[in-house]
Amino acid sequence: MIFNILTLFPEIFKGYLESSIIGRAATKGFITVNLVNIRDYALDKHRSCDDYTYGGGAGMVLKPEPLAGALNAVGVAPGRSESGQGKRCIYLTPSGSLLDQKKVEGLAEEKELVLICGRYEGVDQRILDSYVTDELSVGDYVLSGGEVAAMVVLDSVSRLLAGVIQSDSLKEESFRMDLLEYPQYTRPVEFKGKRVPEVLLSGDHAKIACWRLKKSLARTFNVRPELLMRRSNSREEIELIEKIIDEMNEEGEANG
Ligand code: SAM
Repeated sequence: MIFNILTLFPEIFKGYLESSIIGRAATKGFITVNLVNIRDYALDKHRSCDDYTYGGGAGMVLKPEPLAGALNAVGVAPGRSESGQGKRCIYLTPSGSLLDQKKVEGLAEEKELVLICGRYEGVDQRILDSYVTDELSVGDYVLSGGEVAAMVVLDSVSRLLAGVIQSDSLKEESFRMDLLEYPQYTRPVEFKGKRVPEVLLSGDHAKIACWRLKKSLARTFNVRPELLMRRSNSREEIELIEKIIDEMNEEGEANG
């Protein structure tokens, strides 16, 4: 899969692209990351890419011409967002719709993505109107620039591509089936007086699966109850949720 990343700071990506899973995915050719420096497409001799905001107010805005040049260089023409044709062209922005695992899975179906990293107060609206197909946010907070957000997209999408990581690792991850993952343990069996739960040492796969499901349901119930609301829980899961609620009530009563 090809990721075209348009940024004023391509150097930010260097260490990330050379390390660990993403580094290996790039070396093995599962992904190609094309870093495009927006400043290379600035029109004036100072190579300026930002200007004051019309209407007044603090901060600068990314100028449309250098961005249009960079988009043209990666084969994105104006009018894409209306026609729905061609490459997905994503602007990372806190005003975008929230990225989640389902959206990541959708993006992983594409052959090529274009990611625009904003800076300052953001990007001239006319670029968004003419070129951008998706506006995505990585969370309800404001970053200094879109680079970290672009890395979030790159990482979360890349790890779903065939060959990048062992497919078994993807099966029981958080958000698969709208559940958070159960707790994980490794050696030693005892650490600072705390033992690994006995069931995990039992070798009884059915019991382990039931324990994991219960822990997943309990964690999701406590931290992200809205995920449980939107999934269709099986009879067994509903019984486990009822048990979890009873146990929590009993614990609450015991603690006064
Ligand atoms: N003025 C903008 C606002 O209030 O929404 C914030 C601009 S922010 C300082 C600069 C750039 O960081 C944005 O253009 C965007 O590309 C990126 N950015 C910041 N927060 C983000 C988020 N939560 N998700 C995705 N991109 C983000």
